[in-house]
Amino acid sequence: IFSDVPQAPPVAVFKLTADFREDSHPQKVNLGVGAYRTDDSQPWVLPVVKKVERLIVEDDSLNHEYLPILGLPEFRSASSKVALGDDSPAIKENRVGGVQALGGTGALRIGAEFLRRWYNGTNNTATPVYVSAPTWENHNAVFADAGFKDIRPYHYWDAAKRGLDLAGLLDDLEKAPEHSIFVLHACAHNPTGTDPTQEEWKKIAEIMKRRKLFVFFDSAYQGFASGSLEKDAWAIRFFVSEGFELFVAQSFSKNFGLYNERVGNLTVVAQDNENLTRILSQMEKIVRTTWSNPPSQGARIVSKTLNSDIIGNVKTMADRVLLMRDQLKSKLQALGTPGTWDHITQQIGMFSFTGLNPKQVEYMIKEKHVYLMASGRINMCGLTTKNIDYVAQSIHEAVTK
Ligand code: PLP
Repeated sequence: IFSDVPQAPPVAVFKLTADFREDSHPQKVNLGVGAYRTDDSQPWVLPVVKKVERLIVEDDSLNHEYLPILGLPEFRSASSKVALGDDSPAIKENRVGGVQALGGTGALRIGAEFLRRWYNGTNNTATPVYVSAPTWENHNAVFADAGFKDIRPYHYWDAAKRGLDLAGLLDDLEKAPEHSIFVLHACAHNPTGTDPTQEEWKKIAEIMKRRKLFVFFDSAYQGFASGSLEKDAWAIRFFVSEGFELFVAQSFSKNFGLYNERVGNLTVVAQDNENLTRILSQMEKIVRTTWSNPPSQGARIVSKTLNSDIIGNVKTMADRVLLMRDQLKSKLQALGTPGTWDHITQQIGMFSFTGLNPKQVEYMIKEKHVYLMASGRINMCGLTTKNIDYVAQSIHEAVTK
């Protein structure tokens, strides 16, 4: 009965990791998947997470009963506070709610499903959804699978100047049909590592408000861009202070290093409490038929960890990335590799968009056993003091051969 099922293509980033694992070359390096690695190329369980996990195991008051459909209440409120700030007026006005989700992906998917059902009419699959060009590879598919038929790119990356195409972005905002949905990366844009400045965010917000465009923030790297949870939430908090009703899909995969626990939250900022209550009642219906109720371990860890405790560990990760950025740039400059490499230290967060073209990427993988995405994106956390000379030399060869 399934004889006509076609083979689906592999997910690029996971395929890259599988290829890397099979490679037996002693100097192989994986700069693909977006996960933190220590300077010994090992995954890192954050010390604060380990501490809280021990407390959870020892806590006899905890059990494995079902959580409420919308998730662990203290996790939901802690998450919204991380995004909007402890003293957020919107939270004080009781018009902010959270939906615990399976990772940032789950938060995006639940949010997309809700928007298709209830935004801009009911079941309106024609509302345009704009995602940045380029963007995280899953954005298109998540919205498409939620039923949206018109998914469009908005200008973001200017390849020639290796920076933000602000004029193109603002023009797209001006021209987008009213009520279009815009997916905005809250910080540490994946894959370009390039964020708007505060002044640029203000311009974006001004047009979005005037043109009645819906803001859907994707916040997967809070803390990773600057080492500060507050700074990295600046754009979100600014939009909320401007009176936007919006969604924030939050992932705790990267900043808590909880990749496989699937911890996420959809923060909903509504017009008022009565409106919020109705929105959450519909969210509950969506979750009930999707995963029914979420898992508890990651949510307990996040809600029991104070922001002040986590940020120390996040800073350790962010600082190591900064060091690798500095070193990679200096090494390429010392080698005299053609081109400018300033963008490596100008970009922020986990990734760098190197500017390597597909042919150069192929050379890196096939000849040098350095694995990176076809777009030229590298995960800076994959670099270590032990492999950085080899990677710099490989880039040099790829560019000059
Ligand atoms: N959004 C962006 C921009 C991402 O880069 C990622 C993960 O790579 C996610 C969302 C999804 O995060 P999660 O693993 O928590 O689903």
